[in-house]
Amino acid sequence: MGYDLSKEEIKEKILGKLKRNFGKTLEEATQDQIYKSCALSIRDVIVEKWTDANKQMLNQGLKRLYYLSAEFLMGRALVNNMINLHLLKDYQEVLTDLGLNLENIEEQERDAGLGNGGLGRLAACFLDSLSTLDFPVTGCSIRYEFGLFKQRILDGEQVEVDDNWLEAGNVWEIARPEEQVEVKYGGELEEVWTERGLKINHKNYYSVLAIPYDYPVMGYMSEMPATLRLWSARAKTELDMHYFNRGDYSKAMQERELAEVISKVLYPEDNHEQGRQLRLKQFYFFTSATMQHIVRKHKANYGDLHTLPNYFTVQINDTHPTLAIPELMRILMDEEGMGWDEAFDICSRIFNYTNHTIMAEALERWEEDMFKALLPRIYEIIKVINDKFCDSLWKIYPGEWDKISKMAIISYHEIRMANLCIAVCNKVNGVSKLHGEIIKSRTFRDFYIVFPDKFLGITNGITPRRWLAKANQPLTKLLCDHIGDGFLKDYKEMDRIEDLLDNQKFLDDFMEVKHQNKIHLRDHLKKTQGIEINENTIFDVHAKRLHEYKRQLLKVLHILHLYNLKKENPQVHIEPCTFLFAAKASPGYVRAKNIIRLILAVADLVNNDPDTKDILRVVFIENYSVSEAEILIPATDISEQISTAGLEASGTGNMKFMMNGAVTLGTMDGANVEIYEAVGDDNIFIFGATEQEISRMERFGTYKPGLYYEQNTDLRLALNRLIDGSLHVANDRQFSDLYHSLLFGEMQRADQYYLLYDFASYTQAYEQIVSAYVDKERWKRMAAMNTAKSGRFSSDRTINEYNELIWHLRKMSERK
Ligand SMILES: *Cc1c(COP(=O)(O)O)cnc(C)c1O
Repeated sequence: MGYDLSKEEIKEKILGKLKRNFGKTLEEATQDQIYKSCALSIRDVIVEKWTDANKQMLNQGLKRLYYLSAEFLMGRALVNNMINLHLLKDYQEVLTDLGLNLENIEEQERDAGLGNGGLGRLAACFLDSLSTLDFPVTGCSIRYEFGLFKQRILDGEQVEVDDNWLEAGNVWEIARPEEQVEVKYGGELEEVWTERGLKINHKNYYSVLAIPYDYPVMGYMSEMPATLRLWSARAKTELDMHYFNRGDYSKAMQERELAEVISKVLYPEDNHEQGRQLRLKQFYFFTSATMQHIVRKHKANYGDLHTLPNYFTVQINDTHPTLAIPELMRILMDEEGMGWDEAFDICSRIFNYTNHTIMAEALERWEEDMFKALLPRIYEIIKVINDKFCDSLWKIYPGEWDKISKMAIISYHEIRMANLCIAVCNKVNGVSKLHGEIIKSRTFRDFYIVFPDKFLGITNGITPRRWLAKANQPLTKLLCDHIGDGFLKDYKEMDRIEDLLDNQKFLDDFMEVKHQNKIHLRDHLKKTQGIEINENTIFDVHAKRLHEYKRQLLKVLHILHLYNLKKENPQVHIEPCTFLFAAKASPGYVRAKNIIRLILAVADLVNNDPDTKDILRVVFIENYSVSEAEILIPATDISEQISTAGLEASGTGNMKFMMNGAVTLGTMDGANVEIYEAVGDDNIFIFGATEQEISRMERFGTYKPGLYYEQNTDLRLALNRLIDGSLHVANDRQFSDLYHSLLFGEMQRADQYYLLYDFASYTQAYEQIVSAYVDKERWKRMAAMNTAKSGRFSSDRTINEYNELIWHLRKMSERK
């Protein structure tokens, strides 16, 4: 049931908010004030449900999930909330009556960009699904004052602009200063004997206040809105009066600044960890605050801490929140007087860990001395966990020092967070079938042998509310007209779309929706970037973070190859295509930023050459974010999912494109494997080395990229464009680093990501997908088939699997 709010009431609410919050009439109000009044009117409805649900949940004694994640890439909330309350149409009509336009109002809202990419977006999709399925959940993270930077393109390169997203205030959040907690850093430990035994005193520490801000997250037709709890850092004293009174104002402010830097900014790195102290401070900050909150709440509601695992389960999203484990040990032992074994038993039942990557540079490790100085008590606890863990391994593998030191939590003066998670957690999961198998057979093989029952593979998913109902309203309407709106709540209903694949009218309407979405993207690009594109060409899209393993560079080499074909023979037919890239590079990732420069330089070349400008167009879309993705994905024909096999743990972009009727051109990597299984060989274009082939080459060191350069003329000519002066850039030698990295390598091996190996196979697959595209009858069925088979990639399916295998939550309604 949607919320019963008549159109008259909606109108009154909006105008009432304008009057009472801003003292304005509709005629006097700014767009921002109108946005905020709409949002506040929606918030009232949600907060009422939220308050009721949380009370009900306590009455019924339900277990609650705490989903801990350093990132939540939420995007905008307004229209999503209208959809999930079933109020979109009514709001649209009321706003039209008032002479307003929802699209303009929506643009006033800033994206909540508290994440880098897939990992943070997964957390956001999970909150939507958990609430939609009526499971009680709190997501916990940091209230970063600055989210992921905004990307602008200036003079052919990426420029980062800070994202001060809270600048104009945030209508969705509710501060809860009464629930603040103290988080302690540094200092020394002192052991004292008391009549209750040995007691640890933590002295000379400095502490920071953690203030929670709660956001209700409304699932689709939900009775149980989720909570997103973001912790903000504050100094204990605003001003140091000692310094203030002596006139040293900057010193008087110092403590405050030192404290608040903790929640200042999100680190802009994706799949990369550098072991920096401030990052460690951030991780301890939100995990300590969350664990203190859980214990406090449990004691207030239930008293006895031994029953904690009956009422709480915790999911650790990647290793970033791992410190929650030793922090709960600390609270249970040092503050609540529990013994080690009791405390450890509770932790091993409460915590679960999701692994997101096998790449070495992304595995979190901390230098032992730095860690010990910042978190002395947490360090001691980890050390004891490690000693006991290594003792137990010694019993299984007597004398096998090498194996034990590989599995140890602390080794070679480093603390390895993944090992800590696996040693303690109840369940450990990979994020697709393939990734689940890789962590068992390779990355964490030794652990799998000791704990075979811990390991799971649960394939990621995306919420069809945001990625279909919100992002693609025309397609949603078409589907509703044929199969009703049940598929938004029950993903299995999406299978019914398959029955429509012989309905010509449906297929034609499906393609007409795609065409309209392409026009919408065209207009958007014209408005925001002044770029012109032709909607009657193929839209071939590569959109995700810029990373070498995601192989934007392979796509660029292919575009250069098509350019060469046309230059060599002007008579050759090339199907007109618009190649759209969207990707942020981490500011410190030099090679990634060079790849952006290259994309822009290639765009400059092919878009301005009279021989190619009408058939090849290369476009770089600025500032890839949830809101940009919502416009780009529904307009896509070809979805580029071309990572080196074995390196993309799942991917979720692949699922969003598929659900919106794009056809995948991809490698057998991550969830692409399952997309292949779902749509069948005829409805996807697979190329490149398999994960087994790659791992064989890695093991035996047999890959010689130079050979491919010598033997494949197309590849050689494409590569030569990087260094032969064809590309007009300020610095002629700009792209020699990229060229060099593929052919010779420096510190690392040449072509670590197997671009040259896969080039020929990619070229062939591209030709095949284009011939499928030009066969209009074949393509429309193929595109619609992709949407029809996307139900299994709903995050509702994912959440049900987590719940059956890991959390065992009950829905509120089941116990009414
Ligand atoms: C889904 C999403 C991603 C993840 O894309 P992948 O292709 O899985 O890497 C990254 N950024 C944004 C804004 C997204 O919406």
